[in-house]
Amino acid sequence: MWIGIDDTDSPAGMCTTYIGAVLVRRLKERGIPIIGARLVRLNPNVIHKTRGNAAVCIEAEGDAEAVFALACACVEELAEFDAPETNPGVVVAAVRPPPDFYYAVLRDFCTVDEAVDVLESIGARYRGYKNRRGLIGATAAVASVFFDRTFELLAYRKREAWGTPRQVDRASLFLADETTYPRTWDTVDRKNDAVVCVPHTPDPVLFGIRGESPAAVREARSYVRSEEPACEQVYTTNQGTDAHLLPGAIGELREGRSYLVRGAVAGLPATGPGGHVSFLLEDGGVEVRCMAYEPTRGFRDVVRALVPGDRVAVAGSYKGGSLNLEKLGVSHLAALVRIRPPVCPACARRMTSAGTAKGYKCRVCGGRSREPDVERWERRIRPGWYEVPPVARRHLSRPLVRGVPAWEEDLLQSGRP
Ligand code: ATP
Repeated sequence: MWIGIDDTDSPAGMCTTYIGAVLVRRLKERGIPIIGARLVRLNPNVIHKTRGNAAVCIEAEGDAEAVFALACACVEELAEFDAPETNPGVVVAAVRPPPDFYYAVLRDFCTVDEAVDVLESIGARYRGYKNRRGLIGATAAVASVFFDRTFELLAYRKREAWGTPRQVDRASLFLADETTYPRTWDTVDRKNDAVVCVPHTPDPVLFGIRGESPAAVREARSYVRSEEPACEQVYTTNQGTDAHLLPGAIGELREGRSYLVRGAVAGLPATGPGGHVSFLLEDGGVEVRCMAYEPTRGFRDVVRALVPGDRVAVAGSYKGGSLNLEKLGVSHLAALVRIRPPVCPACARRMTSAGTAKGYKCRVCGGRSREPDVERWERRIRPGWYEVPPVARRHLSRPLVRGVPAWEEDLLQSGRP
């Protein structure tokens, strides 16, 4: 059976992945075999999310009625029921719903009624609390299929430590990263000299190590020195896979979805208030504004190096009429040239135009030339892919160290002149 849980936390505390980890332990204590535990990230643009729009799915074997009772008891004991935005959902399904619902919740928006229709169609046990919104994420988690997957080892704090400063040795995190990168990533951000894997929110998470395999995240974890965790759970996840991205066309983008879009840079990038950098991207006569926000730090220098005529593909969420960049591919760089009248070899003064198609003339000595000065400027970027730094990465965004999927590379190259 598949157990789905969502919407149990609030900005003041708790985390659905923690409830998942507790439930895994309680199921094991009762002799119920656990087949897998998945951390499922859903549409990052949903307004009701607390933080990263995560839901969990636990795959287990045994008596579905008993498991449902246990899962509901866990949520009733631990969820932040007093918070108005916390509306938990619990699902136990013996039949897996079609993956379409997962894709819809990952890439689009769904309603509680749609989730309930799916649950009724497969005869699932389910309970939605308060306004029942958590049933959307819980159903999507149960329906999820991962064509690509990564792993995250989450360490959780003892209850008495919740809300207090986390004790995690910074140097040990840099060592863990140094020893296991690129099999693990986003533990730290070396360029920005920052720790990424330790949250600052008052939830039970102590740290989370992301990587390519359970062995890699466990190895990295073995280097970490910290306060003693209450428990640890390795989840299979859709994080770092670009599962949220759809191939998109400028002019057909819909609010709140995430896309990979190709086009030509249509105007020089401009730095606006707050250090946000934006430029216009054009394809087929239609334009869209692309934004690299201040937290993307050095990535903005890549964006500032673009010039009109560059052919690129950009990945990001379409919000408020702009694409908020997560990643940028460059397939073709426009030649950056300055064409000026030549300098007169006799008197070393710059010539002027002698009229249309008549070349150039020196105003001082009357000397003539047909050829202009062509100055080629070195471009500050090369064709290839660029990404926001780990400190600014979205959970679902695929780090370049994992490679670029073939469909993304094909979309980028299809935009070459
Ligand atoms: P948590 O750590 O508890 O999972 P979170 O940041 O993941 O926190 P939630 O508290 O789960 O956020 O809130 C997200 C809410 O939005 C949930 O009720 C979920 O069912 C709902 N939701 C998620 N994706 C969609 C979607 N695509 N369309 C509509 N509702 C969604």
